[in-house]
Formats: sequence, structure tokens, C-alpha cells
Amino acid sequence: MNFIRNKRRKNVKSYQDKMKGKRTIVFDFDGVIHRYSEGWKDGSIYDIPTPGIRETINKLSKEYRIIVCSTRCAEPDKLKEMQDWCDRYEIYVDDFSVGKPVASMYVDDRAINFTGNCNKLIKDIRNFEPWTEKYKHTCAYCGKTFYETDPLKQARKYCSNKCKMRNQE
Ligand SMILES: [Zn+2]
Repeated sequence: MNFIRNKRRKNVKSYQDKMKGKRTIVFDFDGVIHRYSEGWKDGSIYDIPTPGIRETINKLSKEYRIIVCSTRCAEPDKLKEMQDWCDRYEIYVDDFSVGKPVASMYVDDRAINFTGNCNKLIKDIRNFEPWTEKYKHTCAYCGKTFYETDPLKQARKYCSNKCKMRNQE
């Protein structure tokens, strides 16, 4: 597996020391780190980070080696765009990889957790919806798309309190 090194990493020896004993987490890019609200579109990285993902990855990166795995790594221009985007939003990533590297965990918006139960697997496949579809809502006041991932707030109709208030005026 050829890893593409994070350009900010200069010293190989200190990097190896830093990664010693750390377990690896592989993150998918689109729909996990990149919010990806309109899908692949023209192939550009057009969206903001998924809310909270920067803080989460940066927290995890103290304990784990963070690898971003994406087909975007196969093209030099797309890879650079992704690295620059991560830098711009200060998301700390150790490596980028086009193939699926060995890891302790995989974080993917299109993954189904296989538990060994094949009947459950078929059900899970048939019922599958990525979060970007499942939790997508349209504001009843302004028509804007918003996401509500909290299961207790799924009935929410408005993108913000402002819209809720305005609708009651
Ligand atoms: Zn609204």
C-alpha cells in the first residue's frame, strides 16, 4: 500500500515515533469529512466540513493514526485539492490512501456494520440510506436544506429558531 504523506509532515523519523503503538482509523472523505450535501456533483470539493468532524478528528488524532481513504487520491489534482481543503479547515490527517489500508476501524457513510448475522445483513442492505439522505429536511419557512441527526429532534420543521418565529408571526 502506497500512502501519500501529509505534506505538513517533514521528519519521517519523528513521524514513525509518533505513530508507534497507535491504532489506525480509516475515514471516508465524501459524506463523512466533506459534508457532500449535493453528492459528487462536478467532482469538486464544494461543501463545508460535516459539523463537528474537525473537532472529532483532531481529538482522535492524539490517540489514533488517521488515514483518509478516497478515490480522490488516485488523481494528483484531486488529491491536492483534498489536502488543501483539510489544511484550510485545520483537519489533521496523517495519511491519504486510494486503496483500503489495514485498520482497526473504518468510518464510512455508506458502510453497513457486518455482525455475522446474514439475515440482518440483507435487511440492513434493503433499508440502507446514507445520513445525508436520511436526515435531510427542508425548512417549512425558508425552503433551505438542513440536517438533523439528533433522533429526538427528527420532527423539527424549521432550519433555525428564527424561521420558526417568523412562521408564527
Ligand atoms: Zn429556514
